Amino acid sequence: MKHQNTLNIVDRTEHSWQQQLSGARRSFAELCTFLDLAEDSFDGVMKLEKQFPIIAPDPYLSRIVKGDPRDPLLLQVLPQAAELISTPGYSDDPLEEANASPVQGLIHKYHGRVLLVASAACAIHCRYCFRRHFPYQENRLQRNQHQQALDYMASNSDVQEVILSGGDPLTLSNSYLSWLIQAITELPQIHTLRIHTRLPIVIPDRVDEGLLELLPSRLKIVMVVHCNHANELDENVKATMEQLTSAGVTLLNQSVLLKGVNDDAAVLAQLSQRLFECGILPYYLHLLDPVQGAAHFDASEKKAGNLMAAVIKVLPGYLVPRLVRERPGAASKTPLPVVT
Ligand code: SF4
Repeated sequence: MKHQNTLNIVDRTEHSWQQQLSGARRSFAELCTFLDLAEDSFDGVMKLEKQFPIIAPDPYLSRIVKGDPRDPLLLQVLPQAAELISTPGYSDDPLEEANASPVQGLIHKYHGRVLLVASAACAIHCRYCFRRHFPYQENRLQRNQHQQALDYMASNSDVQEVILSGGDPLTLSNSYLSWLIQAITELPQIHTLRIHTRLPIVIPDRVDEGLLELLPSRLKIVMVVHCNHANELDENVKATMEQLTSAGVTLLNQSVLLKGVNDDAAVLAQLSQRLFECGILPYYLHLLDPVQGAAHFDASEKKAGNLMAAVIKVLPGYLVPRLVRERPGAASKTPLPVVT
């Protein structure tokens, strides 16, 4: 594991999370300047800035080793010329979610659970994202549209768990989240609220007092934090996770297996160990969803199975994530074989 760059750790009291988000680096030139990288050592990236714009906040960038073009955190946010290659078998909607949306912004494809696109915005743009082509502008929901999604949940008594996703739901203001969570809490059949977010890792200050105060409710709150490499989990992130745990939140992680980032047994084992130090249990290791523009991150099922076999040998069972792939139309995630 590479050493984290501790020189640029952001003073947690200096700027609000909103200021840190609005100050995120949004161009290739800015990224290169901040990270001491030579712009002319990368081909083709300028063409990508409009297709899936760069967003990379400083607290995340501060964990990248300056001057290293292969840093595993950098590769998650740096556009590559390979994104311009059209790959057979890859699509703009690899999970065919558009077919599972009975109400705008709500996806109901698994029994007992619905996913609500709570926010169209993210605090970071991950180059491997399976929703990189999702029509967020069309799904930027107003309160009355969220109310329609709530009405759908109310009329479906089998829905017991609500998943807030996006985008990143924690880009919403605390006051809006308070309204939304309160409305979900009032649906008697709902017992669990799951929040899928990268924000507590990307900008730890997002977990402010206001957010912590609105989380406790009669619902079980599960937060899935989407971390792919141990270097993402610095001491600021660890302190934030401890605050969430103290607030009664169950913390889980799901990762994506990404070539060049974490497709190595030692790196995966270090990720699980560091997650546990931060109070987070590894949950899923996903194979990449075949989204156009991300094929250069793909690792084969065979390689993934071999990696997991090596990981199993060095970790206790509770730190071994389940290797899965999501298949369109399947009733659940598909577990994949581990090659032993
Ligand atoms: S939805 Fe998640 S994975 Fe996709 S860009 Fe946003 S934060 Fe990254």
